[in-house]
Amino acid sequence: MSSRRDFLKYGSLAAGSLILPAKLLATEKKHVSNKKSPFGTPLNLRFRPYDLQLKHVFTIANNSRTTTPIMLTEIEYDGIIGYGEASMPPYLGESHQTASEFLSKVDLSSFRDPFELEDIIEYVDKLASGNHAAKASVDIALHDLVGKILQKPWHKLWGLNPDKTPNTSFTIGMDTPEVVKLKVGEADIYKILKVKLGRENDKQMIRTIRSVTNKPICVDVNQGWKDRQMALEMIQWLATQGVVFVEQPMSKLAIDDMAWLTEHSPLPIIADEAVQTVSDLMAVNKVYSGINIKLMKCGGMRNAHKMAELAKVLGMKVMIGCMTETSCAVSAAAQLSPMADWADLDGNLLISNDLYDGVTVIDGKITLSDLPGIGVKPNS
Ligand SMILES: [Mg+2]
Repeated sequence: MSSRRDFLKYGSLAAGSLILPAKLLATEKKHVSNKKSPFGTPLNLRFRPYDLQLKHVFTIANNSRTTTPIMLTEIEYDGIIGYGEASMPPYLGESHQTASEFLSKVDLSSFRDPFELEDIIEYVDKLASGNHAAKASVDIALHDLVGKILQKPWHKLWGLNPDKTPNTSFTIGMDTPEVVKLKVGEADIYKILKVKLGRENDKQMIRTIRSVTNKPICVDVNQGWKDRQMALEMIQWLATQGVVFVEQPMSKLAIDDMAWLTEHSPLPIIADEAVQTVSDLMAVNKVYSGINIKLMKCGGMRNAHKMAELAKVLGMKVMIGCMTETSCAVSAAAQLSPMADWADLDGNLLISNDLYDGVTVIDGKITLSDLPGIGVKPNS
């Protein structure tokens, strides 16, 4: 119950301190519409900011950090609570402030039926452009709620076989050889390692990992390579080092270079920064071999599922990824993972202050439970 009280307290503080008049208006509307109707009770959204503490300093091609701001959401309907989350790494442009402002505009009180997912998500999407993580936090909470009402997990509602979940990769950040070796040791249970490249010492990083393990490696360059010939030579070398695929080797804007690279590459090339949501998918078809779907980029589970289906129709590879997130958003993404060729769902394992128990990794494999909705419970 204490977490519930915190929610109400932080939710009011966060919204009230930023846009008090809108909050008051929303409260008044809710007060009026809170009366029971024959069509059910109104949907009630709450939110509060939180900071994730990272176990290791996280370095990718452009920056380093030790925390990730997130927004926690709850949607309550008829006494049932769905949980959601927005993870907002600073380089993507969302923050506690932008998410508070956006979520304060979301008034679900006019919706009487949480099963009208298309209508509710379309309403949320049209409130403002961007805000993909904030939108995902509403979408995830709504999916959790609906799954709990039906008492079924989403992988079942989507008709997916939980035995077909992939192994998840575990990310090894750039660091000194000593620390890299330590991190590889910590990743003992994982069958696939993910490595961030895009600096001067790329080959050294791979050689350091190869000095301690023969596990397959996925490479994420985060747009770090600038020259396509050099990129191709690196990929050809990586193919001799047990690398499985290469994610976003060059700028998302270098479309011709990327199409050339994909055509010549011995390894699959996966779009991450170049693909945000469903509408981007046609543009990256033929330019990349596959896509990395993340709930925080595409606005949530509904769009992620649509993307995975369309990618499969187009013959593209599907990868499901995440930001640094609690087990809430990671478990939501994991519901979709039986559709994925590869998964990079280690965001909850990279933080020291998770708030939920959810999806587990057993012997390297994503393991879904029968818990309804997104399959999580608060851990305190
Ligand atoms: Mg990536």
